[in-house]
Amino acid sequence: MKDNAQKLLDYIYNSPTAYHATSNGVEELKKAGFTQLFEGEAWDMQTGGKYFVAKNGSAFAAWIVGLNWLNPSVRVIAAHTDSPAFVIKPNPQMTTGKHIKLNTSPYGGMILHTWFDRPLALAGRVLLKSSSFLAPEERLININRPLMVIPSLAIHLNREVNKGVEFNPQNHTLPFVAMVNEELEKDDYLLNLLTEELKCNADDILDFDLTLYEYARNGFVGGGKFLSSPRLDDLWMVHAGLEAILQADAGPFTKLLFCPDNEEIGSMTAWGAHSRFIQSILERIVGRDKFDQAMANSFIVSADLGHAQNPNYADKDDPTSPSIMGEGPILKYSAMQKYATNGYTAAVFRGLCERAGVPCQAYITRSDITGGGTIGAMMSAKLGCAVVDMGLAVMGMHSIRELGAVIDNEYALKLFKAFYDNEVK
Ligand code: ZN
Repeated sequence: MKDNAQKLLDYIYNSPTAYHATSNGVEELKKAGFTQLFEGEAWDMQTGGKYFVAKNGSAFAAWIVGLNWLNPSVRVIAAHTDSPAFVIKPNPQMTTGKHIKLNTSPYGGMILHTWFDRPLALAGRVLLKSSSFLAPEERLININRPLMVIPSLAIHLNREVNKGVEFNPQNHTLPFVAMVNEELEKDDYLLNLLTEELKCNADDILDFDLTLYEYARNGFVGGGKFLSSPRLDDLWMVHAGLEAILQADAGPFTKLLFCPDNEEIGSMTAWGAHSRFIQSILERIVGRDKFDQAMANSFIVSADLGHAQNPNYADKDDPTSPSIMGEGPILKYSAMQKYATNGYTAAVFRGLCERAGVPCQAYITRSDITGGGTIGAMMSAKLGCAVVDMGLAVMGMHSIRELGAVIDNEYALKLFKAFYDNEVK
């Protein structure tokens, strides 16, 4: 059990951005014999064949083509690759007095205060000049060193700090990187860092997509029973989905793992769940003429995390359906259909849990609290396919560190394996 959880922690730590989550996922798929396809080329697929495609370097999908061509159906697991973080702005260098800091923007719904006073590292992709301006060279970069800190204001300078502070994301959350007087080039801290790391000329760097991440390693707490880690939302589900598709065999139905980017900012990108990406993959697998027929016979598990009961804020939970860490996958309900679950898809999911030998609990927000959403509802509407929204329960969602239970990882692995199992009907 701990080995599986350690594997998950390693995947997350080595995937500080959606680009790395995709690249590391793709490496595993290649090793397991999946063939890479490219959107810009024709796809020649065989029944029973294993394939994957990546988009923007930050989203990917992997599948095993079903053997039943006459009446195709697909079992889909969908989980997003992105997580809230600070993104480096263009022209990031700022100087205040003798201090150099970097200008950043928040990405997604961050809990800002959790980012203070922690050594931060930097990762993402850098775009370099190449022979064609339309195809700049993309280089992944992960500067896994404690480079910078967002310092708190001392309590002596704000005695009210423990009564709650409003942070201005332009003024108060910029990371401090160096003093002006050090031998570092005053004007080009980031450029110097990138050229050193990539062993390239400054002139070759055209642009970048870089985010900050916590340098300290994730790990176990509570006697090994719990996981304290950044990006459990939603790399936990991406990883469990990967494990399931890597172990799956060809069967009558197509098995698809879909991992889009940009869920945290509304999915409205060409590599997000709101795009044609998933639809175009499915159309190419089952054929355009059979697409609607296949969707009517298919089922999507939209896998994302939900809120576990926080013992210090138990009044924030629904009075009859609180979700508890370690008590199994959660079925996410919303009368307003912010989650795609309804009675029918919940019943299907409960049946699956029973066959997998995994417990399952209902999750719904209090009627006086507006909860979050997922990619489930938009995929359901776009594809015309039945979707269930499920996940695992964590505390501190969107904190720089989230807390989950090791046993829930086992449940998710078992559940996804059963979902792709040809014998599970
Ligand atoms: Zn999420």
